[in-house]
Amino acid sequence: MAKVNYHTHTYRCQHAKGDVEDYIQYALANGLTTLGFSDHTPWVYEDGYISPIRMRVDQLDEYVQTINTAKIKYDGRIQIFSGLEVEYHPDKLPWLIDLATKHGLDYMILGNHSYPHDEYGSPQCHDFFAIHDIDDIHLYVDVLTKAVESDLFSCIAHPEVFMRGYRKLDDTARLAFEQIITLAKKHDVVLEYNLNGLPFDHLYGIHTYPHPLFWEMAGKAGCKAIIGYDAHFPEAFEQWEDEYQKGMDLLKHCGCTIVDTIPLGKYKK
Ligand SMILES: [Zn+2]
Ligand SMILES: [Zn+2]
Repeated sequence: MAKVNYHTHTYRCQHAKGDVEDYIQYALANGLTTLGFSDHTPWVYEDGYISPIRMRVDQLDEYVQTINTAKIKYDGRIQIFSGLEVEYHPDKLPWLIDLATKHGLDYMILGNHSYPHDEYGSPQCHDFFAIHDIDDIHLYVDVLTKAVESDLFSCIAHPEVFMRGYRKLDDTARLAFEQIITLAKKHDVVLEYNLNGLPFDHLYGIHTYPHPLFWEMAGKAGCKAIIGYDAHFPEAFEQWEDEYQKGMDLLKHCGCTIVDTIPLGKYKK
């Protein structure tokens, strides 16, 4: 099993450090054979909203070009792919799909962070990082279902991320786990075991995400799993070696089918 990562950010999203080259250096030094970049997608906001957690629309060209240059430079040493981490925001997606096709993007991963947009603070915006009630869990699963059915995404990043806010392993959470796993199995979509959630376990003293029960259930269902660093700083590939190994052990123990590739080329012309 090759050591890979398809979930890498860059400084452009305003809450990560380092650029493409920095991540490649650490990836090479730590034995990764594939590095996919999936920075937070830009969105167009009709009302002029400026997101503090994404690249700007006018940075996308340069982002993809930087990755494409690195693909050539590092050819034969490490495989580089261009991607984005994208929410299921239906009104905005057609615009993004056009751009992804224009750029020949290699893939998109689903980051189900918000719905139907991410203008945090607006009453219409549901923030899935901060879910506290059952209705929002139902909405989270509903949106995730629509996203998977759209067939736009190569992987579901942090599928159980709602546990960051919800933090209760009750019947509602268990049912949501089951629904997400059934969906992933039905559509043969890869689930990501997200290393970036582990610090919240320490912060709250409980499991948030990745959640051991979720992966136990995913293994029993025979789901495909991949480890994602969700790297927001280049040193993650060095500093999270233990977490990576423990994650691999857990996924094996649970009986998940661990994969080191995700579907590529959906957006090639
Ligand atoms: Zn981020
Ligand atoms: Zn991410």
